Amino acid sequence: MATVEFRKVTKHFDEVSALSEFSLDIHDGEFMVFVGPSGSGKTTALRLVAGLEAITSGEILIGEREVNRVAPRDRDIAMVFQDYALYPQMTVEQNMAFGLKMRKTPKAEIARRVQETAATLGIEELLQRKPRALSGGQRQRAALGRAMVRQPEVFLMDEPLSNLDAKLRVQTRSEIKQLHKQVGNTTVYVTHDQVEAMTMGDRVAVMSEGVLAQVGDARSVYEEPANVFVAGFIGSPSMAFVTMNVTRADGTAILSRGEVRLETAARVLLPDEVIVGVRPEHARIWHEGADLVGPVNGTVEYVEMLGRETLIGVGLPGGARLVAQAAPDLLIDVGGSVAIGIEPGRMYLFDPATERSMGRL
Ligand code: ATP
Repeated sequence: MATVEFRKVTKHFDEVSALSEFSLDIHDGEFMVFVGPSGSGKTTALRLVAGLEAITSGEILIGEREVNRVAPRDRDIAMVFQDYALYPQMTVEQNMAFGLKMRKTPKAEIARRVQETAATLGIEELLQRKPRALSGGQRQRAALGRAMVRQPEVFLMDEPLSNLDAKLRVQTRSEIKQLHKQVGNTTVYVTHDQVEAMTMGDRVAVMSEGVLAQVGDARSVYEEPANVFVAGFIGSPSMAFVTMNVTRADGTAILSRGEVRLETAARVLLPDEVIVGVRPEHARIWHEGADLVGPVNGTVEYVEMLGRETLIGVGLPGGARLVAQAAPDLLIDVGGSVAIGIEPGRMYLFDPATERSMGRL
């Protein structure tokens, strides 16, 4: 096992800056997920650890050894790709044995490790098949087996589940997590799927435009997003944002926008204007006596029945929109008026100038 450390790593492709001064410590045995939208630099960061791209500036350390100039094969890493990259002319067994053979591992040792790994993954009966005779899920397992058999210090996985259908993805996701618990290798896992990130990662590194937006466990990136980007990216359906004016009275902050006026205890010092973020699960239909901040009056723009709950898109005067969560049996018409209340302590505040978090009200 090993730590992986990025020290101010920058990577340019001609004019494109794929990664900028990226610093991150990945602990020994940790399952770290890189998540972010397309083009945010996740794959580039992974390929730099693998040695498949050269760093423009900065350093990468694996197990405290600087590896900037170490060839990929000498880095003690194994990578699992989205397209599996199995050799089509070889059987699963030959695919798994190939890397060890190239490293001149003794035959008996190779056979033992392939058998052991195949048993862990439950693919013993597939060993004599070629990749084209496997389903997507089986190929994915074979590719995982090929990486595991090498017993690398670090596993690097680039969207390994994206070619699987939704159900198989959920199943394989928990299998990979289970395997990680058993084997315990440091793992760096790239995905654009925030649910995958939240459910798999010991910690999640949220990336945006080549920059680390926030790193933390699933709970902290969800509950305490560091900025507007993380707040909007993590959580489904997304947090809604409304820019509001702030006035203060005795011990009270009044947030207003047009006809919307919210009065709350002033627990944090605020500038004259803030971005207010509200997650759907914290916005509910208002009723007198409810322990909610509000009411916020708006118009029902859409209703989504999801079975377990109903989501209501609420248009506010002036153009902003909130999404509120309601009970599945709620009957409400599109175009009608609705009053929403927000759970106390669940209005996320951001500085409009920097988009950084200013806490919650
Ligand atoms: P995706 O989820 O779409 O794979 P990503 O977050 O993994 O995205 P990267 O593939 O790391 O993003 O790309 C980051 C940026 O670097 C993008 O703007 C991309 O176009 C650019 N880039 C990546 N590889 C190259 C390359 N070989 N040559 C030129 N530009 C590249």
